Amino acid sequence: MSRKVKTRLIQFDSCPDEPYAPMSTPLYQTATFAQPAAAELGPYDYTRSGNPTRAALEGLLADLEGGASASALAFSSGMAAITAVTRLVNAGERIVAGDDLYGGTYRLLGRLADERGVEVVYVDTTDLDSVEKAMDSRARLVLLESPTNPLLKVSDIQSIAVLARARGVPLAVDNSLMSPYVQRPLKLGADIVVESATKALSGHSDLTAGVVATHDPEIADRLRWIQNAEGAGLAPFESWLLLRSAKTLAVRLTAQQLSARRVAEYLCGCPLIRRVYYPGLEDHPGFDLHHRQAEGPGVVMSFSTGSDDLSERIVNAVRLFKIAVSFGSVTSVISQPVRLSHASVPAEIRRRRPLPDGLVRLSVGLEDADDLVDDLAQAFRAAAGRYCCLGADGGTAVSGT
Ligand code: PLP
Repeated sequence: MSRKVKTRLIQFDSCPDEPYAPMSTPLYQTATFAQPAAAELGPYDYTRSGNPTRAALEGLLADLEGGASASALAFSSGMAAITAVTRLVNAGERIVAGDDLYGGTYRLLGRLADERGVEVVYVDTTDLDSVEKAMDSRARLVLLESPTNPLLKVSDIQSIAVLARARGVPLAVDNSLMSPYVQRPLKLGADIVVESATKALSGHSDLTAGVVATHDPEIADRLRWIQNAEGAGLAPFESWLLLRSAKTLAVRLTAQQLSARRVAEYLCGCPLIRRVYYPGLEDHPGFDLHHRQAEGPGVVMSFSTGSDDLSERIVNAVRLFKIAVSFGSVTSVISQPVRLSHASVPAEIRRRRPLPDGLVRLSVGLEDADDLVDDLAQAFRAAAGRYCCLGADGGTAVSGT
């Protein structure tokens, strides 16, 4: 019987071979494993190559992302996971990448182009024709985010998977903004899914980790070789922490998404804000598509004010939201992507595709939604004294010049 994700997160039997049937996976905090005899190898020899705690985590992640036939590998960060995937592409070959990606991914792809002779073309993946045109005979990988970070643009994963498969090009989706609780790209036809588990999967801002999952045994073997050869596998303690945190993924995200919707609706009524970017809002251009391919809007949203200076004053005036990079944690965070997470986007790309002026990104955590709305309301008042935003009750007192 196929059980729901919420149940599988809690009931996943990560240690069927343990003699004492522990309810928490044991932490194998060891680098080396003694072997039975000189010419006889046990199941594990060295933690870089494999560790039972990491293997338990990889079993859970494979199950979440793609079910019984999927494989998953845990890396030391989301960037280590993305780097491993880019190793599938050689000099002279092409990566077709989305044009609104996390800044660190841009930085990595730029270096691949400069130093390894891999050609990277950036396309608007919300436009199927652009993706199709970019997949020439040298294309070996399509890499996209949906929704994107920070503009929350939604791409049609299923249709792009069909186009890519027809050309024999693997499609990799960076699903960090959603997590496998909300969206499962492998089920939509993607060949590879990448997650920064630093985000909602772990959810407590206490570790960095990355995941790659695939149904393709050949891709899984190549990635496993890279994980071992380059030594980027997740350490045992982080694997244990991530197993523990993942148990509450569903309950955390269910509550956080409810609060996120509340915050987004509040922002829509605020006269200081020009536009709110959140796939949970019905006027979002990707609303229908997103809700066909995902089971929730996520907890990340952006808004623009039209002025970097005004946005800086808003960010500096919040008290509950922490000014921090990253998202998906139980703690709410706020940032100006141009100053933090996207400062590493190459200048050329920033010139060609500037982010809207005064863009602010929020990730909504587990605090009480009323307190979060109150905090934003006081920050807007402090940042622009003569403006007045909606009260925390969503009611009266809207004015502004
Ligand atoms: N992918 C996305 C969409 C991200 O936002 C990030 C980090 O913010 C990463 C990948 C990289 O993950 P990590 O910080 O775990 O290396």
